[in-house]
Amino acid sequence: MKKSIAIFGFAALMFSAAIQVSYAQKAGTKTQAFYTYGADGKRTGFAFPALPYAYNALQPAIDSLTVSIHYDKHHRGYFTKLVVAAKENNLEGKSLEEIFASVSKYPEAVRNNAGGLYNHTLYWENMAPPKGSKPSGKLAEAINKRFGSYDKFREQFGNAAKTKFGSGWAWLILDKNKELQVTSTSNQDNPLMDVVDQKGAPLLALDVWEHAYYLKYQNKRADYVEAFWTIVNWDEVARRYAEALGK
Ligand code: MN
Repeated sequence: MKKSIAIFGFAALMFSAAIQVSYAQKAGTKTQAFYTYGADGKRTGFAFPALPYAYNALQPAIDSLTVSIHYDKHHRGYFTKLVVAAKENNLEGKSLEEIFASVSKYPEAVRNNAGGLYNHTLYWENMAPPKGSKPSGKLAEAINKRFGSYDKFREQFGNAAKTKFGSGWAWLILDKNKELQVTSTSNQDNPLMDVVDQKGAPLLALDVWEHAYYLKYQNKRADYVEAFWTIVNWDEVARRYAEALGK
């Protein structure tokens, strides 16, 4: 009995390792993870992107249980509801960016769940196991030029995150004038949506819904925001910055 459990455990471990590898191989074309495709190469609907690391990878900043519930229940819930809403509104062949650009035309369920699917995927991808990394290269130069210093940027972004009333997100974006901006949005809105005042390409996303931090931090949102800086994946933020500059 014990032996068969051990074999099953080992097989499950290998299977999850295989999923992580296939995700890593797609790293250059991340947006593809949002969609399913038919034999003709056309989009047929939405996919649920894999978590790019283990549940405990962000400890101690974010605990394992919070990541597992956040990813497997909340994030997956937005995906599942989007699949239903997309079918009802004939949106299965559209990209999330296309939907966001005219999201005001669609029911709330599309806005909330398409936003939820997209925002959380960015959030997971712009975090990584703690290495104490900082912005470098062109991104670091742009942050210094726009905000004065990395610390001043952190202060401004942190304030946006801490003072967001209710549920929402803090963002670093590149606006249409190729200028960095710190913004925030409510609920599952994001800076690609036509309903949002400050628009731009999202570079860094921080979820400040209570479900993102409450188990470990309770009401202390500021401590969660402070811990976030130890797990920001600056390589991914720099990749998004280069991509947004090129558009
Ligand atoms: Mn969330």
